[in-house]
Amino acid sequence: MIRIGQGFDMHRLGPGDSVVLGGLSIPCEKGIVAHSDGDVLLHALCDAVLGAAGLGDMGEHFPDSDARWKNADSRMLLRRCVELAAARNLRPLNADLTLIAEIPRVAEHSGQMRANVAADLAIDETAVNLKATSAEGLGPLGQKEGIAALAAVLLQEREGD
Ligand code: MG
Repeated sequence: MIRIGQGFDMHRLGPGDSVVLGGLSIPCEKGIVAHSDGDVLLHALCDAVLGAAGLGDMGEHFPDSDARWKNADSRMLLRRCVELAAARNLRPLNADLTLIAEIPRVAEHSGQMRANVAADLAIDETAVNLKATSAEGLGPLGQKEGIAALAAVLLQEREGD
């Protein structure tokens, strides 16, 4: 059995000089305003994993109101989501991520970001795809007020368990 999940996340940009994306700190003319490290790519992916496993969303598992998740490392949250799916006998097959942002430019970092995601999902790097698109100057994303990400993931039920 194969199950699909999708996720979306968006964060506001504010004062700062770097943003965390795909578990990597990337220099940027602005920073992220968020309770955690504000990694929209990994947050979208967490929700996709939880969605495919029928486990709700990040807000249920890592509520803003819980001090444990303040400044949380999103790679740790992603690995926790993968563990929750594994407890339901489901493991990731592949992931496809889309960053929607005017800044920062991530092309030169995409290899390391994919490697981070692949490690956390325990899949091959060839099974992780990362796309980046600008918003063509339109709306809050285009005006550099925020950045957003979409994620899709497939989980497969482990055979023999
Ligand atoms: Mg988020």
